[in-house]
Amino acid sequence: SSKSRTQTDSGETQLAGVAITHPDRVLYPDANITKADLAQFYVDIADWILPHVIGRPLTLVRCPGGQTGQCFYQKHLDGNLPAGVSTIAIKEKQGTDDYLLIHDVTGLISLVQWGVLEFHTWGAREDNIELPDRLVFDLDPGEEATWEQVVNGVREVRDRLKTIGLESFLRTSGGKGLHVVVPLTRRRSWDEVKDFTHAIATSMMHDSPDLYIDTMSKAKRKGRIFIDYLRNGRGATAVASYSTRARAGAPVATPLRWDELSPSLKPNQYTVLNLRKRLSSLKDDPWEGFFQVRQSLTDARIQRVGRD
Ligand code: ATP
Ligand code: MN
Ligand code: MN
Repeated sequence: SSKSRTQTDSGETQLAGVAITHPDRVLYPDANITKADLAQFYVDIADWILPHVIGRPLTLVRCPGGQTGQCFYQKHLDGNLPAGVSTIAIKEKQGTDDYLLIHDVTGLISLVQWGVLEFHTWGAREDNIELPDRLVFDLDPGEEATWEQVVNGVREVRDRLKTIGLESFLRTSGGKGLHVVVPLTRRRSWDEVKDFTHAIATSMMHDSPDLYIDTMSKAKRKGRIFIDYLRNGRGATAVASYSTRARAGAPVATPLRWDELSPSLKPNQYTVLNLRKRLSSLKDDPWEGFFQVRQSLTDARIQRVGRD
């Protein structure tokens, strides 16, 4: 709103207590979105995105020159911590590394000020990073795979999860595919969670070898959907719900109701330009219940994969 956004004498813009430098720099030329516009977007949708990103180790995609410039993944900070950004020391194979965390809108906007166009998170929270609380099936269409295959693929993932008693949630990636997200109570290790998602991917491939593949191989992916379960390993990340993407048109990874899934849906349907209109016209949260679901990977559920 114009109240929270003021232009200072030096040409900076203040948003959520953060000084936005180069506010008029165009970050998405095709959508004509400036750095100030992007910061305003995140202020406007803060209540939607924050529950999905706060207290989770982050991987960021930074594009200081905007979407059409050089972009790079960044997990660690070199230099001073911006306002609202903190760190958590995480054990690695050798030594420990400091991962970035945010807890409020100031941290969110500080990272936009820092040139971030994408927020990716761990599927675990800072108070127990060894026990994941969500898993992600990332459906990646190979060359010559159809959109219909992606749509049917997420439906099949949902149905297989439902069969074993797990509720799941759908989102656009903002890129080429769709994601199915499953909230979990924290009982299993990363390896156990990853093995479970791998087993689902493998059983889909066994039942429909022309449609699905469970390995990254680009050649084998041709005409098929890669059920990318690798987002569920320790240290792996997936784009956060409501994060922008560093891609043409300023798309946003957007949570949907299952009844919004259709062949006419596009993975980059929602963008910085149209998402706020969608959110303000919604009657209910499309992921109603996401943070209330209590379900875990029991032995019985793990053993049932591929048997029904
Ligand atoms: P699409 O629908 O186009 O596939 P996506 O977000 O699912 O969009 P993928 O390429 O399937 O993109 O998944 C890539 C994921 O892997 C990213 O979400 C990111 O979290 C992670 N990733 C990829 N490259 C790196 C990297 N160099 N460093 C850290 N994480 C990475
Ligand atoms: Mn993907
Ligand atoms: Mn992927």
